[in-house]
Amino acid sequence: MTRTLDPELRNALAERVRYCHEMGIYDFYRRETSLPPFTEAVAPANVSVSESGLREEMAARKSAVVLNVDEDKIFSSQPEHGVADPAAALKLIREDLGDCTRCKLHKGRTKIVFGVGDPRAELMFVGEGPGADEDAQGEPFVGRAGQLLNNMIKAMGLRREDVYIANIVKCRPPGNRQPERDECETCSPFLMRQIAAIKPKVMVALGATAAKNLLALNAPMTELRGRWYDFKPVGSDPSWEGARLAVTYHPAFLLRDPRQKGEAWKDLQMVMKYLGIVPPKKAAE
Ligand code: SF4
Repeated sequence: MTRTLDPELRNALAERVRYCHEMGIYDFYRRETSLPPFTEAVAPANVSVSESGLREEMAARKSAVVLNVDEDKIFSSQPEHGVADPAAALKLIREDLGDCTRCKLHKGRTKIVFGVGDPRAELMFVGEGPGADEDAQGEPFVGRAGQLLNNMIKAMGLRREDVYIANIVKCRPPGNRQPERDECETCSPFLMRQIAAIKPKVMVALGATAAKNLLALNAPMTELRGRWYDFKPVGSDPSWEGARLAVTYHPAFLLRDPRQKGEAWKDLQMVMKYLGIVPPKKAAE
């Protein structure tokens, strides 16, 4: 039987949809899944659905978040719109970012950490935000966690220059705290534009903060890892089918808990299989 949602649930759904819209997510579709239901809903506001139907929708939608295309509405006014060369497009995005003061993170930063790597990379890693070393050098993942990420990339048979690396926020949060929601919401549109310019085949979200911001999902790492998500920023090239996105542990977490390196390697193997990468013999053994 169809009935109106109770006000509390309706408000929660409306808030979730508002958040998704701010993240650039305007559409959702349903995909069959065998995963267990998640605990948080993503559904259009002001809907009336049956309670059992809602639960089914919640479970399915949680597993199928897609940044859908709404061509020519969001990105058409951006300077890189229509620029086919990814390097040139990234340059225009960097220029547009400028000496950014759009969120409060600009107050404590030394350098903006825009991103680094091959503008035509098939593989893109996205972390949380710069740390002290990155803030000083203006490049992502150059500290201890960066060394580990380099080793992970090398174990895949790739070089750091073969991939593109960026973060959800481009300025260092004070004391290496997690970036706050308003900071992520303000900064991530630039990341979306970078992704749209690079058009990677595969993205790897490093850690829960990156995954939750990219996917607008609030789930533990155990549920986020080990599967693929479809990912396509709003307004990106309609001829690009979008990226597949996998989630793995942040290298800083792996430094704290090296026992999880085997799990991270499984995630990277999933990526390598999809990209047709054969690991060097030593890594494969
Ligand atoms: Fe600008 Fe992003 Fe830095 Fe905030 S974190 S000041 S939005 S570049």
